[in-house]
Amino acid sequence: MLIRNVAVLVVPEQGECRVDEAQDIHIQDDRITAITPTTTSSPTDEEVIDGTGLVAVPGLVNSHTHSPMVMMRGAAEDLSIEDWFNQRIWPMEVNLTPERVRVGARLACAEMLLAGVTTFVDHYFHADQIAAAAIESGIRADLAPTYFSSAGADGINAAVDTTRELSRLHPRITASLGPHATYTVTDDDLKRTADIARAEGFRIHLHAAETDDQTQASLDNHGVTPVQVLERTGVLDAGALIAHGCGIRPGDLPILERYADRTAVASCPKVYLKLAMGEVTPIKGLRSAGVPVGVGTDGAAVHNTLDVWEAIRMVALTQKQREHDAEWMTLSDTLRLATRGSAAAPGLTDQIGVVEPGRQADIALVDLSAPHNQPVHDPRAALVYSVRASDVVTVLVAGKVVVRDRQLTTMDLAEVLADAKSLAHTLVDLSKGGAIQHYAP
Ligand SMILES: [Zn+2]
Repeated sequence: MLIRNVAVLVVPEQGECRVDEAQDIHIQDDRITAITPTTTSSPTDEEVIDGTGLVAVPGLVNSHTHSPMVMMRGAAEDLSIEDWFNQRIWPMEVNLTPERVRVGARLACAEMLLAGVTTFVDHYFHADQIAAAAIESGIRADLAPTYFSSAGADGINAAVDTTRELSRLHPRITASLGPHATYTVTDDDLKRTADIARAEGFRIHLHAAETDDQTQASLDNHGVTPVQVLERTGVLDAGALIAHGCGIRPGDLPILERYADRTAVASCPKVYLKLAMGEVTPIKGLRSAGVPVGVGTDGAAVHNTLDVWEAIRMVALTQKQREHDAEWMTLSDTLRLATRGSAAAPGLTDQIGVVEPGRQADIALVDLSAPHNQPVHDPRAALVYSVRASDVVTVLVAGKVVVRDRQLTTMDLAEVLADAKSLAHTLVDLSKGGAIQHYAP
């Protein structure tokens, strides 16, 4: 396959990103084999996609989400983090069934693919159903079956077994262990998780130090920060994806630095603003400690979209504000975070995240011709600050076209939407009472 005459976003490991005009991207099976300047000779490839006027960017990675929560979009608004969990989300999640999770995950996959998101790093219940939706839709996913210590040994064992099964399921599916958080999973269970992760080669995806209040509570109750908990239980040594980390203290950075080759942090700033969580992720400190940081949306029950473009923009804006420095988190820094940084979240640094030979052919073609992007003095600025999800025209995952001319090729969108609409009310119903967990970090 060939993508012909396309502009290509080039993201080096360091220094300035750039956009190379008039390139041909050659693809064989699931991989990019070469990128060459476009010539006038006619291509002999079996399939040719005309990239004229489009920019090829690495398929976006949603580095932390709970995809089926799209079913709760808009159902938990204007609440504190405590009430969001205790009055809405955990009572609603009493209603989870395999079918409802699968229907939500299909909607999520449709939303993400149409926006150029080619990989999502998920953390949720009934993860086998999410895998089924991901496989059907053609997207790539890393799935962590969620568990709390309150589920007991049987519940935890079942989640761990699901991780094992998912890891053998499909080339586009990887699996991680998914303890919920340092405040909902005991140190003993985290230790056991870390032992399994090391023995069987899994990564651990969990929430930790989400707010500074959580860090302070951990210090008050246990005398250690959440990051210290992750170190002493072996989670960092096994390899971890830490969701949020807004409460990471400067003293935690030397700890994280020791595990920087196998640890990443996912930042989802729209959520921090909306729940008034205080500080956003200390990306500057993490970067100087060598810890990769990716961009995510978290679940749509708080983020309202799974739009990674929106998340990328929020990262740039909130980081400038956090550091009181408009020269920090430049266009190149932001694009590097959103591509190479996010690829590190599921541990796929060598596979995805850049458009270059040898990588998986996960590519989004973006049209910058709409009024909100014009005129384009710097396409990198358009990609960070003005592009919309609906500007994505064509999407490839593992060399397969999954979105063509803004249409899904793998699923019937009308059916996906109708199924979600017919079941959505069953998920947000609070009449049963009870909750799957209580938020009291
Ligand atoms: Zn989360």
